[in-house]
Amino acid sequence: MAHNFDLVIIGGGILGTSISYFLGFLNKTKKIAIIEQAHNVAFHTSSRNTGKVHAPYLYNPEKKKMFAKTTFHGYEMLEEYSRLKKFPFKKDGVIEVSLDEKGTKVLEKYFKWGKQNGLQDNDIKLMDKNELKKIEPEIKCESALYVYKDGSTDYSKVTEAVMKDSRENGINFMLDTKVTNIKKIDDKWKITLNNDYEIFANFVINAAGGEAIDIAHKIGVAETFTDMHFRGEYWRTPKEYNNLTKTSVYSVPKYPDYPFLDPHWIIRVDGSCEIGPNAVPVFSPYGYNKTENIKEFIPKILEMLRTGARKTIFDKQFQELAINEIQSAMSKSAMINRVKRFLPKIDAKKITERGTAGIRSSVINENGQFVPDVILEGDSMSFHILNYNSPGATGALPFSMYVVNHLSKQGMFESERSDAQCGPWKFSDMIEKLAL
Ligand SMILES: Cc1cc2nc3c(=O)[nH]c(=O)nc-3n(C[C@H](O)[C@H](O)[C@H](O)COP(=O)(O)OP(=O)(O)OC[C@H]3O[C@@H](n4cnc5c(N)ncnc54)[C@H](O)[C@@H]3O)c2cc1C
Repeated sequence: MAHNFDLVIIGGGILGTSISYFLGFLNKTKKIAIIEQAHNVAFHTSSRNTGKVHAPYLYNPEKKKMFAKTTFHGYEMLEEYSRLKKFPFKKDGVIEVSLDEKGTKVLEKYFKWGKQNGLQDNDIKLMDKNELKKIEPEIKCESALYVYKDGSTDYSKVTEAVMKDSRENGINFMLDTKVTNIKKIDDKWKITLNNDYEIFANFVINAAGGEAIDIAHKIGVAETFTDMHFRGEYWRTPKEYNNLTKTSVYSVPKYPDYPFLDPHWIIRVDGSCEIGPNAVPVFSPYGYNKTENIKEFIPKILEMLRTGARKTIFDKQFQELAINEIQSAMSKSAMINRVKRFLPKIDAKKITERGTAGIRSSVINENGQFVPDVILEGDSMSFHILNYNSPGATGALPFSMYVVNHLSKQGMFESERSDAQCGPWKFSDMIEKLAL
């Protein structure tokens, strides 16, 4: 294998893999590699999520502009790609419910945002409880927002198909390979892999998910930011609940500025049902179990105390919410009861099987606030994608197009062609359509 690359992407989640997809079509002579520490792509957050292809109704068109736009186009691109590759994509909708008058006001705001973000009259509808009852008799609520244009998929299958296409276009996938160090030497990056050997690259894209901040810090970028990790746990429900509702159900989050959404009632693309996720504070982007959390506890606490996260952990509101989440990790009933508020028929005793947990890494600024949108930092030799959170899987394809175009336009990494056909999409036409 060559030891010199024109470009190296760190991280083979849905984001890094999608970036490689477009780079592969636009560059035929450049040497490009993607480095992933796991034995397959989408091993972490990109396969450990709710599997929803979201409509852009939860995103303030001003504060979360990037997520709103990429979600809108991501839905259509994923639908098209799934049809082409013949893997399941269901336009199965989602119902967002409010349990009180305050929540109903929030739903009215979401309805407005949805429309501002491009949803049409037949994509989204506000309903009172009586109207919803006729469609979904088991749901108890004050009012609801029925979003017809919301879907379900399996993001690990999507990412694997994207990897296959990228490989056919000459992208090198280095799996089971961890970036353990990275250093600038003159006009090249010296990248140490598995603490064992080195490769060199002219340009680096950091798409390392929960480790993206750490990699940025290693090379002196984004130093005023830090992150906190939250484990989202799920419970699988028995088959007898598979027809409890026709559609997944979310409830209005009480504190949308914090990464604590209340757990949802989820119908997955294969028809199975789950409850989740909560958001339990953990100490590592891979803190799925006690051993990893104990190992990372002291370094993470020390890091939080010397950064903006210090203010977050001493914030009373944050502490209350975090305790609530920890309770719902320790007690199954506490978690199930959060969904029982709007689906009273569920019986915690019948639920015995855990689902697959995933970890969200949220970026915090120097004032201790959670940053709402994605953060992009770059210079002439590197580009860093930080805080790429929900609904990141939905928007990964259009967002990757944006990144590739941005790098080319800024002269950071110029692609050889801009009018290439990238699978079903002509790159230049899509960039015009995205208008990001
Ligand atoms: C509980 C939960 C539910 C969610 N539900 C949804 C949903 O329903 N719909 C939706 O659109 N989005 C959802 N999301 C968000 C979505 O899953 C993420 O935004 C998306 O998967 C992020 O992709 P990524 O490629 O940036 O990160 P990741 O999937 O985490 O990929 C980053 C990769 O980088 C690798 N890496 C890191 N450091 C190194 C290193 N040093 N060397 C080599 N490799 C490295 C990691 O192994 C990892 O595979 C959810 C997220 C969570 C946590």
